Amino acid sequence: MGTLGHHVRSKGTQTESFMRTASIATSTSDAPWGPATSTPIKAVHPRPAKRPRVDEEEEEESDISTILPEPHDSTYDPAQSISNVTEASQPTDTSSTGYKDSKYIVFEKNLMELFETCPDCRRLSDVRTYRRGTFLAIDQKCHHCQFSRQWKSQPAIGSSPVGNIILSAAIYFTGSSYFQVQKIFQAMHLQNISYSAFRRHASSYLETAVIHQWHQYQEAEFEFLSQRKVKIGGDMRADSPGHSAKYGSYSLMNLETNSIIDIQLVQSNEVGGSHNMEKEGLKRSLQLLESKGVAVDYIVTDRHPQIQKYLCEQKITHYYDVWHLEKGLSKKLGKVAKEKDCEVVKKWQRGISNHVYWCATSSSSGPEKVAKWTSVVNHMQNKHTHDNPLFPQCQHPVRRSRDRKKWFQPGV
Ligand SMILES: [Zn+2]
Ligand SMILES: [Zn+2]
Repeated sequence: MGTLGHHVRSKGTQTESFMRTASIATSTSDAPWGPATSTPIKAVHPRPAKRPRVDEEEEEESDISTILPEPHDSTYDPAQSISNVTEASQPTDTSSTGYKDSKYIVFEKNLMELFETCPDCRRLSDVRTYRRGTFLAIDQKCHHCQFSRQWKSQPAIGSSPVGNIILSAAIYFTGSSYFQVQKIFQAMHLQNISYSAFRRHASSYLETAVIHQWHQYQEAEFEFLSQRKVKIGGDMRADSPGHSAKYGSYSLMNLETNSIIDIQLVQSNEVGGSHNMEKEGLKRSLQLLESKGVAVDYIVTDRHPQIQKYLCEQKITHYYDVWHLEKGLSKKLGKVAKEKDCEVVKKWQRGISNHVYWCATSSSSGPEKVAKWTSVVNHMQNKHTHDNPLFPQCQHPVRRSRDRKKWFQPGV
């Protein structure tokens, strides 16, 4: 991570920050905290040689060193008003990161009121601001009594303002989009971090944190599962439908807890085509389980031919996922129903789909499932007793159908 940190401080960022500084300089003249009188604002100072390095992101600074009007109330005491605020809102987090600290939307004009005058001699002071994303530092200097101070709007971890990282983390971990958030911020002129800063936070801290957390979770899960035989379900999700996917992620789920225990990312060109990705994903997952001492009781997947063959070779008990089975069957029935003289099939599509699920969930053995499943052929002919002793008769109540045309005629 240390190496990464240095690496991302590219020259491109530096150039960008220079240009941004220049563009800000031109717009400073309409700074909202400008004097009420027509006193012209002094030109922007070049960046001071020495100043606290806070973050490596774009640097925008605006100098508001200017002659400001006298405060309306000469008895105004900034220290007093700050202590009032502190009393009113109890800080919820005393740790240095301030993650749980309440944050506020502060208007620039209101904030600058606090720095207009020197707290010692009460005369007008020289004020300069530095911004990094959502962070603001204010340097206040009095030319009359040499008073000076720097105020910071956020704590920092290392050289990064915490608010910037928290914003990146909040966007990332809530599944939001940087650009959606930026739209909102721009719409209300709320200062935001740059996209490059967001990406840098994501790759340096957030994604590494996710990976670290995942590995910790997975290790604990494997430790627990190595004590028993695990019942798993597996399937691949590809980046595009059909057969031209570039990436596929194979997920393995513990069916007793419905929790994902492994994910394998496979790229099509490492396995000679997208049609080989599914088997490779499962293979890698099963190898990982084996290396962690986790034994497989059975596995449930779709009816992918390579998977069937592979699991058979590995002598792993294999069940088909009823969802995929029903989906495949319904697709075929849908095709048949569209053919000439096969309209009657349409009446049965829904019933057959439900029957597949019922066979799977109500049976305790394979032969029982088969007996129930094959009984549907009799049932469709209005015959509700069957030769198979495992399922000798339909379980539905006897009732007369209103739709006589729905029954299949044997031999027709
Ligand atoms: Zn002073
Ligand atoms: Zn029946």
